[in-house]
This record gives sequence, C-alpha cells and structure tokens, in this order.
Amino acid sequence: MTLLLELMAPFEAHTDMPCTDEDPELFFAESPSDIELAKLVCGPCPLKQECLAGALQRREPHGVWGGQLFIAGEVVARKRPRGRPRKVVEPVVEPAVGSPAREVAA
Ligand code: SF4
Repeated sequence: MTLLLELMAPFEAHTDMPCTDEDPELFFAESPSDIELAKLVCGPCPLKQECLAGALQRREPHGVWGGQLFIAGEVVARKRPRGRPRKVVEPVVEPAVGSPAREVAA
C-alpha cells in the first residue's frame, strides 16, 4: 500500500486527469477498439509525459499509460484482435499461353 501511495503522490495535486472520470478497466481492455478509446482519453491529459515516463520506468506489463499501449512490457502501436490471423490468400496464376495446362482448361 505504501508503494501505491508513493506512485500516486505526483498525481494527487492534479484532479484534471481524464482517466479519473473513466472506468479503469477501459485502460486494460481486451477489445482493440476500447484500447484505442483509452488512448484518446489520455490525449488531453496534462500528465501524459510523466505518466508514460513512469510506466516505462516501472516496466508496466500491460495497459494504456500516457496514451501508449503496453503489452508484455513493450510499447506497441495497436492491439491485435483475438483469434487466428487471416490466412494469406494465394494469388491466382493463369497458365501461360501455349502451355499444356492452358489447353486443358480451355
Ligand atoms: S496519461 Fe496517465 S494519468 Fe493521464 S489520463 Fe492517461 S492514464 Fe490517466
């Protein structure tokens, strides 16, 4: 508890932090759209630089801090949606004119 109070001390004088009006879960959301919303909430925050610097210093494992998304302790641009990535669609290759494959297809 003492550590938490020490971490929050620089922020206590500021009541104009936009995140204080939001559900804290928004900053640790699963949905990429909610994460983008959390980043927007941080936009006008007067403590954005300090918040980001603190998160980098503490090596925050995840969440939105200072308008940036942390995943596994790294700042990443976007959160990927859950599930498998899309399969790569192979381009359709037409057989060359005069090739046996082209004649069979015709
Ligand atoms: S930058 Fe930090 S303090 Fe400011 S709104 Fe975002 S999470 Fe809150």
